[in-house]
Amino acid sequence: MRCALCAEPLTFGYFSKIWNDPHYKAYHAEYSEWVGGWLKIFVIVGTIDALALGIVLYLFRNPWTFVVAIWPYIVPLWILMMLYLQRTSRFKREWKEQHPSLTQP
Ligand SMILES: [Zn+2]
Repeated sequence: MRCALCAEPLTFGYFSKIWNDPHYKAYHAEYSEWVGGWLKIFVIVGTIDALALGIVLYLFRNPWTFVVAIWPYIVPLWILMMLYLQRTSRFKREWKEQHPSLTQP
């Protein structure tokens, strides 16, 4: 896997370790900090959402409940995903502006 911002090969390849990767810490400190915070929010929202969905499905045992209740579950996570993509592309753009010589075409 390569760095999401400058395409350098990474020591750690997997998504869950982005904020611990030495490359991100050294070159994109602000980004690694932001991703750590974002992931915390994502996990908290996801957990609360899953619990709420479970409770709603338990209280109203009806196949239609699932169709209605799945939306409040998906929407906050979808918003968080969009926020992540938007923020990542902004960091990427800023990095390119600051280091034009390091960016491969
Ligand atoms: Zn990088």
